[in-house]
Amino acid sequence: MGMVGGGIGSFIGAVHRMAASIDGQIDLVCGAFSSDPSRSYESGKQLLLPDNRIYQSYDEMIAKEKALPASQRMDFLSVVTPNHVHFKPCKMALENGFHVICDKPVTISLNEAKELKSILEKTDLLFALTHNYTAYPMVKQAREMIKSGQIGKIRKVIVEYSQGWLATKLEDTGQKQAAWRADPSKSGSGGAIGDIGTHAANLAEYITDVPIDAVCADLTSFVDGRLLDDDANVLLRFANGAKGVLHVSQICVGEENNLKIKVFGETGGIEWEQQEPNSLQFRSLDQPLQIFRTASSKVSDVANQVSRIPAGHPEGYLEAFATIYQKFSKVIRNRKENVKTENYDLDFPSIDEGIRGMAFIEKVIVSSKGEQKWIKLSQ
Ligand code: NAD
Repeated sequence: MGMVGGGIGSFIGAVHRMAASIDGQIDLVCGAFSSDPSRSYESGKQLLLPDNRIYQSYDEMIAKEKALPASQRMDFLSVVTPNHVHFKPCKMALENGFHVICDKPVTISLNEAKELKSILEKTDLLFALTHNYTAYPMVKQAREMIKSGQIGKIRKVIVEYSQGWLATKLEDTGQKQAAWRADPSKSGSGGAIGDIGTHAANLAEYITDVPIDAVCADLTSFVDGRLLDDDANVLLRFANGAKGVLHVSQICVGEENNLKIKVFGETGGIEWEQQEPNSLQFRSLDQPLQIFRTASSKVSDVANQVSRIPAGHPEGYLEAFATIYQKFSKVIRNRKENVKTENYDLDFPSIDEGIRGMAFIEKVIVSSKGEQKWIKLSQ
């Protein structure tokens, strides 16, 4: 794999590298780690890359990797830059024959996301989007239980993602991750709704397997002078008639990464939270509360396929991230080796989830700013 972004002092690039290496199937072979060439070089040296595979820019990396013999060049590009530097490297990689795995939100606008899809469709390449929360074993278990009718027809979804790290104007202190997230030219039109709201919406759609049809939203920038929302309360209508509430916030003092979801149907309900990811609560009309646990014989094959260690040894964020890399790289490898790909290996988010995420951000903003009560995502 090659990487764009993820230089010294950055956040998610290192997570991607750890996740990619967990299953022993992927090596980092090259990178353009920063927009500053000397920092890119320093970052590549720290990662023990040879000088000729540390590039000054992603343009240079894609051109020079393409010129290498197929056995040496990177197979795919991992894009872990701020949101405004997703579209160009993704486009360039796809146009030059490289598969792409990109962090969310996929681009900074819905139009860019749609354009990326049309570029992807002209190729036979793979695209993965790291909505990593959908890859936890107990999230897959919840989806499976809902699919097989164990809670009945879905009526209500409650999803929350609370953080507190932007409760003060951190972007003015030089904190890198806060600075670009608070800048609309780099983050896109959404603040918290783009940064973590897309994860919450994606998780709700993945677990229920039902698309969000319409939103009624109230966005706020609580911190004085902040240009983008840091808090969002959104009512949801799902395509099957279910109703929902989504709340995301980055000003909930003391909250870490409190992503939680509850789904209630006519006969039961599930509850999962990211900070305790190895348990899934299941409620039903006529049974006591049940707790399903990762890597147990009581959970589905779909969940156990993405567990790596025996029950009781905590699995978490890195492993879920790794599962997206595992499936994505398995499909690439299958293609190289002419092996049939199983459906469960195609179970990772791609460009359609990216487009839905961008539509979600843009329609939530339209709803919050306007007088019309409900805005359809497809409008
Ligand atoms: P960051 O600011 O910590 O890191 C960004 C990196 O990109 C830096 O190393 C920077 O030098 C580099 N960069 C910027 N422009 C570049 C260019 N032109 N060429 C090469 N490198 C360049 O940001 P972050 O917090 O790591 O976020 C990066 C992306 O990951 C964002 O899209 C964010 O939304 C996403 N993210 C996803 C998750 C998740 O859970 N899936 C978590 C955090 C961040």
